[in-house]
Amino acid sequence: MAVDYAGQPCDYDAIYAIARKHGLAVLDDACHAFGGHYKNRPVGTLADVNTFSLHPVKHMTTGEGGVITTESAAMAQAMRVFRNHGITTDHRQRSEQGGFFYEMVSLGYNYRLTDFQAALGLSQLKKLPEWIAKRQAIAHMYDAALAGIPAVAPLAVRPEVGHGYHLYMVQCDLAQLTADRAEIFQALRAEGLGVNVHYIPVHAPVLPPKLWHGRGRLPCGRSGL
Ligand SMILES: *Cc1c(COP(=O)(O)O)cnc(C)c1O
Repeated sequence: MAVDYAGQPCDYDAIYAIARKHGLAVLDDACHAFGGHYKNRPVGTLADVNTFSLHPVKHMTTGEGGVITTESAAMAQAMRVFRNHGITTDHRQRSEQGGFFYEMVSLGYNYRLTDFQAALGLSQLKKLPEWIAKRQAIAHMYDAALAGIPAVAPLAVRPEVGHGYHLYMVQCDLAQLTADRAEIFQALRAEGLGVNVHYIPVHAPVLPPKLWHGRGRLPCGRSGL
């Protein structure tokens, strides 16, 4: 599972080299990377399964919900069944077939987007290219503005990608600054800038502390907050 963190697509050639060696499928959490691309291929086509969130903070919204893209017909059918209580056909398909038969083939959930939400999503989709371009233009303004400040380094953008800019990340060299992270956060918020810490580590406190230590584990834990 790869996350296109901040909006920059991962290096999928490198990820697929590992996946093929071990017979693994690749999932792209593309929630940050609407409008991005990798080696001229658009986000949404980079992995076997690609997921987008339509939560209100994202590039476009349906209130809640999301979109999954895949080239696999079998995967698409399995997801349609899963979102519909594990039932093989929906009402529309049954009325098109003129029959009543359906089967519950697995355990599923009601993960259906409503038609009201879909209508909002379709109208948002029309505005999406303009919004993505605006995010990229704002990011370039930040690039120019921050270029003269040695203590603040924007996250580097690799040459082979197009960045979706859900977030604009900067690394602050605290050795060169008189403020710590909390003070920088407060000062920028006081200026009306919607800065945040993306993200608090997910393993604390959801995983037991015994899993935080040892080779390959996550030693920072709560103390890292
Ligand atoms: C928003 C987001 C999610 C969660 O999306 P939901 O719609 O709440 O399920 C997952 N991953 C990333 C990277 C996100 O930005």
